[in-house]
Amino acid sequence: IAALALTACGRTDSGTTGGSTTGGEAFPKGSTIGVALPQKTSENWVLAEQLFNDGLTAAGFKPDVQFANGGVSEQQNQISAMITKGAKVIIVGAIDGAQLGTQLQQAKEAGATIIAYDRLLLNTENVDYYVAYDNFKVGELQGQALLEGMKAKKPEGPYNIELFAGSPDDANAKVFFDGAMSVLKPKMDDGTLKVLSGQTTFEQAVTQGWKAENAQKRMDTLLAGTYATAPLDGVLSPNDTLARAIITSVKAAGKPIPVVTGQDSEVESVKSIMAGEQYSTINKDTRALVEHSIVMVNDIQAGKKPEINDDKSYNNSVKVVPAYLLEPVIVTQANVHTAYVNDPVLGPITKQ
Ligand code: BGC
Repeated sequence: IAALALTACGRTDSGTTGGSTTGGEAFPKGSTIGVALPQKTSENWVLAEQLFNDGLTAAGFKPDVQFANGGVSEQQNQISAMITKGAKVIIVGAIDGAQLGTQLQQAKEAGATIIAYDRLLLNTENVDYYVAYDNFKVGELQGQALLEGMKAKKPEGPYNIELFAGSPDDANAKVFFDGAMSVLKPKMDDGTLKVLSGQTTFEQAVTQGWKAENAQKRMDTLLAGTYATAPLDGVLSPNDTLARAIITSVKAAGKPIPVVTGQDSEVESVKSIMAGEQYSTINKDTRALVEHSIVMVNDIQAGKKPEINDDKSYNNSVKVVPAYLLEPVIVTQANVHTAYVNDPVLGPITKQ
């Protein structure tokens, strides 16, 4: 039996799904690992590029890290090129998780393992693992922060709020919104929260391309119309880039800054929280996410099944994708000085 197992796991040409636990190498060290990143819509993606290059190199692999600033077809071409280069694992942070089906199928046929990174890959069986911060939890934390921030300023409701969501092509955007709405909707139903614009659906709240200018324009319109006279107490913003655009709009309109949520712990937003402008952000340490992705690559390389901690939450319409989820942490003025003690950039900025 031992001899048989050895023969079986000695193969290096097998299409690996990480299913083997016998310890044989699934592919040689030094192999190419593809990392397909989306557009640079927030600092976390820029940081990921550097971390993947450094981390994969240090782990003995040949990284091929690409951004697709030109859009979906550029990302499709980049994944095809990674297959041609013989990538054994392809890590994908998709621009549009539903538009890569053909390339993912080709990657699987070529024997690569596919890891969805940060954003889920949709409508395909050709995704092996998902590694991300718990996106639904991010939304819940944002919804709770919005409520708490408004209560702290004005103990009794009702509160007027507006809702912003991320880009509809990013699979995360709806999950963030749903997480937040799981907290906010009951309060809208009981009259504690009022959305005076009436724009309460995901489709009405989206921000195409996660672009600051789109959020700013929508906020300008809301302030000039719905909030020409009515006060605005809070804004659900899905990330920091959009939060700062919303605050810019409010300042330009000469109105008091409402409670505005965020995500990503971008430097300017952390400073804004310390200055008492943006209310909250989410700490999703990119280093931990990249590190964990590389742990998975190491396991797959060694023929081990990567550890997962969630096998039910992320259904991509074809399968439930085995996931390793990290815990997001809410940051407000209350914990901003302790939240980033281990962060090389934010640590010094937030030290008291
Ligand atoms: C990420 C967020 C980020 C957004 C825009 C999302 O998929 O999870 O952290 O703010 O993309 O770049």
